[in-house]
Amino acid sequence: MPRPIQATIHPAALVNNLARARVAAPEARVWAVVKANAYGHGIERVFEGLRGADGFALLDLDEAQRVRTLGWRGPILLLEGVFEQRDLELCSRLDLWHAVHCDEQIDMLATHKTHVPHRVFLKMNSGMNRLGFTPERYRSAWTRLNALPQVDEISLMTHFSDADGARGVAAQMAVFAAVTRDLPGERSLSNSAATLRHSMPLDAGDGWAASDWVRPGIAIYGSAPDFPEHSAADWGLQPAMTLAARIIGTQTLVPGDCVGYGSSFVAERPMRIGVVACGYADGYPRVCPTGTPVLVNGVRSHTVGRVSMDMLIVDLTALPAAGFGSEVTLWGKTANGAVLGIDEVAQCAGTVGYELMCALAQRVPVITGADETS
Ligand SMILES: *Cc1c(COP(=O)(O)O)cnc(C)c1O
Repeated sequence: MPRPIQATIHPAALVNNLARARVAAPEARVWAVVKANAYGHGIERVFEGLRGADGFALLDLDEAQRVRTLGWRGPILLLEGVFEQRDLELCSRLDLWHAVHCDEQIDMLATHKTHVPHRVFLKMNSGMNRLGFTPERYRSAWTRLNALPQVDEISLMTHFSDADGARGVAAQMAVFAAVTRDLPGERSLSNSAATLRHSMPLDAGDGWAASDWVRPGIAIYGSAPDFPEHSAADWGLQPAMTLAARIIGTQTLVPGDCVGYGSSFVAERPMRIGVVACGYADGYPRVCPTGTPVLVNGVRSHTVGRVSMDMLIVDLTALPAAGFGSEVTLWGKTANGAVLGIDEVAQCAGTVGYELMCALAQRVPVITGADETS
């Protein structure tokens, strides 16, 4: 028998979460962002659940190839564009749309030989100072692109740094609007946080600028982009990934007994604990302290002591029926419908749900939820 740990991908949750994004931005088309192997879920595993999207957005050319291999004929967008000249050949061959965020990428396009001109998304650095042309240089980049025979339609794109927080998107939107006001082309602005929190019809009545394409990632996997202000449940999102393992041993403690490496936990009263077949080599964060929530047979409990490579310890004192073989849900949902949001666990680890999903280790077997069809 393999080690009793498993991740489950829930297609019905993906369908639900994609629908939530559509409700939040009813006018927009939706890129399902599937970079980083669909945020750790596996592109092939999420494809059925997300094929109702209008397109797939990602970074790696080999991931684009995988989406095409799955039979997707619709739009695919390379969010960082190409990295070297020959990437453009694959774009031509696979009909990939691509971001253009720097002069070097325009140079490559200018010498690219293609029969079919490319659809590009010209990216503005509207304040985040990651990728994109500054507002001052954006229009000259547009003009240069527009003159290239290799380029078909130019869409306009930017990315928000603070859509999940107090600063919001207004300042960056104002910059983007001012610079692009009279430029033709579709707009793509919003990640999950902006889609959920700041989707208004962006057309304020002065002719500018509905967001034609939204780009939700984390929300479609069922994590709240603005936790703890909102939970996934607040947004109507369902976990698309469950990580669960079984108890492979138990111990009974008396006051003064220690647990795990470094004896960081000391029992103050009689306790019963369970040893779970999940550790940091499975992708469970080692930094999760005593008290990090888990579900044991669908009932809430918490970790005790340090997480080790292959195991972690949970408190069974209040759960006398639990023992060897009991199921422990590290995040996601149980058969009885109980949910432990990945965001809660991430918060205990001082990080975000994104990082936990993406860090699911190769050694964890992944299955697609059996009783669910999309
Ligand atoms: C990753 C990414 C997204 C999706 O962001 P979420 O916060 O996961 O919704 C959108 N746009 C770009 C450019 C990205 O790189």
